Amino acid sequence: MSTAIYPGSFDPITNGHVGIIRGGLVVFEKVVIAVLGNPRKDTLFSVEERIDMIRDSIDMSDGRVEVDSFDGLLVDYCRQKGARVVLRGLRAVADFEYELQMANMNRHLHPGVETVFIMANDAYFYVSSNLVKEAAKLGGEVSKLVPASVAPRLYAKLGR
Ligand code: ADP
Repeated sequence: MSTAIYPGSFDPITNGHVGIIRGGLVVFEKVVIAVLGNPRKDTLFSVEERIDMIRDSIDMSDGRVEVDSFDGLLVDYCRQKGARVVLRGLRAVADFEYELQMANMNRHLHPGVETVFIMANDAYFYVSSNLVKEAAKLGGEVSKLVPASVAPRLYAKLGR
């Protein structure tokens, strides 16, 4: 079975992420959404909260999507899952340099794993978890940019 690992912070999941997951399911039989457990940066939501929001946002009924968390090296996690593909999304040019570095580092660490990119949907090209959080914190309306169950949890977390 072709399995792709889609790693990320998902703090919180946005409609941009959902688009990448849908795209991944066109190409691969299974997509494992892997929430980063020990991020370099502080997150607003705990790993459990991030996983819950993903589960509420994606149709998991056919068993083609799995949600999990991981710590440590992504390539070790891929080995553990028996996956040879890392799925990532590409938005503006700004994503490119970082993603190229990561893909090459992962290829260096484990040549048996390849990174595959799916282009961002036009409608969510400018959407990032960070911008959504910033806008929501200042009272901005972000409910069209995130799955339905995410906005209320975001506003509640931010005390809005
Ligand atoms: P990370 O901290 O690993 O970058 P993110 O949750 O921010 O985690 O992003 C995970 C992946 O999803 C990255 O490849 C990122 O480029 C992609 N992504 C994030 N937002 C969007 C979006 N709006 N459209 C397409 N891809 C996106």
